[in-house]
Amino acid sequence: MQGLMQDIPLTLDRIIDHAARWHGDREIVSRDAEGRMNRTTYAAAHLRAKQVSNALRALGVGMGDRVATMGWNGYRHFEAWYGAVGIGAVLHTLNPRLFPEQIAYIINHAEDRLILADPACRPLIEQLLPQCPTVERVIWFDEDFDAWIAGQPAECAWGGFDERTAAGLCYTSGTTGNPKGVLYGHRSNYLHCLMTLQADALALSARDTVLLVTPMYHANAWGVVYSAPAVGAKLVLPGQRMDGASVHELIETEGVTYSAAVPTVWQMLLTHLKETGGKLSTLQRVTIGGSAVPESMIRTFRDDYGVDVIQGWGMTETSPLATVSIPDARVAALSDETQLAYKLKQGRLICGVDLKLADDAGRTLPHDGKTFGRLMVKGPTIASGYFRGEGGAVLDAEGFFDTGDVSTIDPHGYMQITDRAKDVIKSGGEWISSIEVENLAVGHPAAELCAVIGVAHPKWDERPVLLVKLKPGQDATREDFLAFLDGKIARWWTPDDVVFVDDIPLGATGKIDKKLLRQRMADYRLPESEKA
Ligand code: ADP
Repeated sequence: MQGLMQDIPLTLDRIIDHAARWHGDREIVSRDAEGRMNRTTYAAAHLRAKQVSNALRALGVGMGDRVATMGWNGYRHFEAWYGAVGIGAVLHTLNPRLFPEQIAYIINHAEDRLILADPACRPLIEQLLPQCPTVERVIWFDEDFDAWIAGQPAECAWGGFDERTAAGLCYTSGTTGNPKGVLYGHRSNYLHCLMTLQADALALSARDTVLLVTPMYHANAWGVVYSAPAVGAKLVLPGQRMDGASVHELIETEGVTYSAAVPTVWQMLLTHLKETGGKLSTLQRVTIGGSAVPESMIRTFRDDYGVDVIQGWGMTETSPLATVSIPDARVAALSDETQLAYKLKQGRLICGVDLKLADDAGRTLPHDGKTFGRLMVKGPTIASGYFRGEGGAVLDAEGFFDTGDVSTIDPHGYMQITDRAKDVIKSGGEWISSIEVENLAVGHPAAELCAVIGVAHPKWDERPVLLVKLKPGQDATREDFLAFLDGKIARWWTPDDVVFVDDIPLGATGKIDKKLLRQRMADYRLPESEKA
């Protein structure tokens, strides 16, 4: 219709162009593996990203070509990121913590032409290269990178292509089957950036100093590579060191106001602060996600350090942020103590995406806060399938993506994850949340780590079994753990057995690897007494 608004493609180069032009002197501060600091600005990084684009073009890299990176969060990684997406190449982040054979599979599947990597990854990459024939060149994120772009012009036309062009590729760690590629588009990442900037989401602003602890190779770095420059926040990139002391030092010296990371990182920081009596003098808010946030963490941040915890939920396939545990008007009017129950939930939907609960037959389930169902999401920032059609169709008839998570939604729209679909225990036609039982069990003073898995049962199909790794020097019995759980959960949720193990394996993103645990327990049989 005549007079309709300008039709300008939402391409990601516009974000860094904006940052360079309007927040050009805002800093990007990086620390490398040796602890050396680098200070640059959005204007300078923009310039070097253009040089990267020209250096890529000189190697024949163009639209749609996959350029891989394997690196911790640092300014060169940031420049490579924008240099690749600016010319329509696909920035493919590799997770160095995966098994080498998985990484080789991923490089070959993506047909990466180039790898830009941290020097610390050299032994791993050299081991992989003979198996990866598509890789033409490796460039190291040190002086090698600087030399590669040196002399390249700082002029380069970016964008000018369809907003539906692919921009990023990130493989899920593949807890079932081979890793699968999630392909982000310019439009999807641009929209995700705007969505996460809402006041009721990450609420970043030009006044923030953002510490991006979430690795750039994991789940699209929660979109912060786009959202921080979009608002001109100062960006702090911590490199490989994520221990409590290193994170604390960066927060204090750089005046960090906001940060995002998984619970394990925050646990290390809080332990360090407790040991040293350290303070958090500038930090105001943290977003925590990737796995459920423990209540004690929210309390400690709030009561001891005056930091507000915002829980977020999402996954690689959802760009990732989809829900946030921020109070609505009704919850905000409640006491701090009552609000805590809502902060423990994964939260309410961000405008731009939609959610529903479904049973195994695909029927929609009620939002009563009690009924468990498969969590389904839909929207322009949600995967429609996987790269190269891997894993087949993943959408239901209404176009909702099956997240593989099981959750409840209460009448006010607060979603709470109860389990992953493949871990939920189906006992006599009802579902038992393995996560809820293990979270309670790990509260036992002798427990270091707990996991609950389902094992076959002749009458109930599956029954829960609790696996416990004790803290060093601690002793406890099966009966101790069952007595500890008694009264805290429904009788029929009580594990049929408790097995003490030396090790509970964690996957590449720090979560309990239940697939491996189930393999290890393949020969396990329930005690005869429990089979009736
Ligand atoms: P991976 O699948 O390799 O673990 P993702 O980062 O994509 O990598 O993981 C997404 C999954 O993490 C979600 O499907 C969900 O099960 C879990 N998750 C993410 N955020 C939360 C949260 N706040 N609470 C509980 N589980 C979460």
